Amino acid sequence: MKKILFTLVAAIMLVGCTKVVDDGKVNVVTTVGMLADAVENVGGDLVNVDSLMGPGVDPHLYNASAGDVKRMVGSDVVFYVGLHLEGKMIDAFEALGDKAVAVSDGLDKKKLINADPEVFGGAYDPHVWFDVDLWSEILPVIVDKLSELDPENREVYELNAKSYLSDLDSLNNWVLSRVSELSPEQRILVTAHDAFGYFGKAYGFEVRGLQGISTASDFGVKDLEVLIDFIVERGVKAVFVESSVSPKAIEALRQGVESKKWNVEIGGELFSDAMGDANTDEGTYVGMVRHNVNTIVNSLK
Ligand SMILES: [Zn+2]
Repeated sequence: MKKILFTLVAAIMLVGCTKVVDDGKVNVVTTVGMLADAVENVGGDLVNVDSLMGPGVDPHLYNASAGDVKRMVGSDVVFYVGLHLEGKMIDAFEALGDKAVAVSDGLDKKKLINADPEVFGGAYDPHVWFDVDLWSEILPVIVDKLSELDPENREVYELNAKSYLSDLDSLNNWVLSRVSELSPEQRILVTAHDAFGYFGKAYGFEVRGLQGISTASDFGVKDLEVLIDFIVERGVKAVFVESSVSPKAIEALRQGVESKKWNVEIGGELFSDAMGDANTDEGTYVGMVRHNVNTIVNSLK
């Protein structure tokens, strides 16, 4: 499959692809919605942003279609998160060469959480958007690349990034204030997969996921048993489903806990690896974070 993808990208690049839109704007393709949102905030009216992965789409399992490859080849730049988040698209990014930019390259590696490469394929946990402060460090990468493609407007990109950074700063402060409503003992976050490591680290939560860092590997009966015992022992009040992962596993967990005479609520749905629907609050990065934090704090209080 990977080989085919690489060949497809190479073939389309060779034939040459007319630009999708030629209106003088920079044509950008992004993978996950959180990234599209960041590019839209930095680029404003000067860019067209085409996001490959919509609401409910799991980036770990996402395979680029022939149509996606055309969109990528026809764009001026493809921004992706990297760190093996888009694990099945790595060959396509490689074939795109300089056109594909991993925004995680801008992050200080010392701030990243290690992952087991044997299990996951990458050395670091890729879910960096859960720490609002850390996520804001991708903005200079976007500014630099857009300015390289459109040098005349560098100043605009810089100003837009500065303004978005100030929004993210306020958001981070709001998160800190909201989570401070929970005692340290209440700060236990159990979800479908291990997406919330950076959230836990930044905001003082102990985090457990039924599946590993990638949804590509399934959980076993043993994982389920261990997590059931953990929830009962610690008296966890609520566990959470994720919008991009099937809720079946969390339901199995809830039932397992019930059989041990402890009641754990399903606290609600969190947007983990994909944002909510366009034209809703959760369809923006800021709205997605607010929704998640409100859901977590209200259910665990
Ligand atoms: Zn994930």
